[in-house]
Amino acid sequence: MQTDTYRHKGMRRALVKQLREKGIRDQRVLNAIETVPRHYFFDKAFLEQAYQDKAFPIGEGQTISQPYTVAFQSELLQLKPNDKVLEIGTGSGYQCTVLLQLTPNVYTIEYNRPLFEKARLYFRNHGLNPHTFHGDGSLGLPAYAPYDKIIVTAGAPVVPKELLRQLTVGGILVIPVGDEKTQRMLRITRVEENEFTKEEFGDFKFVPLLGRSGWSGGE
Ligand code: SAH
Repeated sequence: MQTDTYRHKGMRRALVKQLREKGIRDQRVLNAIETVPRHYFFDKAFLEQAYQDKAFPIGEGQTISQPYTVAFQSELLQLKPNDKVLEIGTGSGYQCTVLLQLTPNVYTIEYNRPLFEKARLYFRNHGLNPHTFHGDGSLGLPAYAPYDKIIVTAGAPVVPKELLRQLTVGGILVIPVGDEKTQRMLRITRVEENEFTKEEFGDFKFVPLLGRSGWSGGE
């Protein structure tokens, strides 16, 4: 059984302090990071790493996103209580668990079967209830659309049109887009049925988004 002690909570407070110094302002997001035990997603041997502001391997060639990136993307989403959110790239389940602190209405889809199974088990063991799916999220999750917010946690070559279609009017898509080396963080808002605005927020490095509208689209 995993435990969350004063020591872990102290490590999280220190992490939140760092995130604030790096420019994260949204108090609800900072509270969520302070609440979620990130060490639950790590092997016991890697406790120190769990509370460093770094990405870390989670197996299957994938990574748990850096806390700063999780906070930054969460902040860009401007989540309101009860917003319906789609996360593409469940991975470890950490970002999803952070989102669940901000709204109970989270859908998350993962392409990699072993990671999907592991995350699902994690949610079940911790009494968390996101809607979990296994499949290609580069096409979104049309069966449950529209979403108030969509967050992509893997680097995309382009903005998939399918994701724009699955936003509510007023909805927001946060997605890193670029080449294999770096991706620019984009926030796209559906201001009207057929009108979108795009804002850019600096460079990040994600593992590639696979699938039809991702890097395996041409195959
Ligand atoms: N949000 C995750 C970050 C995981 S890294 C976390 O908090 O840990 C990105 C994840 O996206 C990987 O697990 C990868 O398998 C997944 N992924 C890549 N392409 C995908 C696709 N087309 N659909 C769904 N998931 C995808």
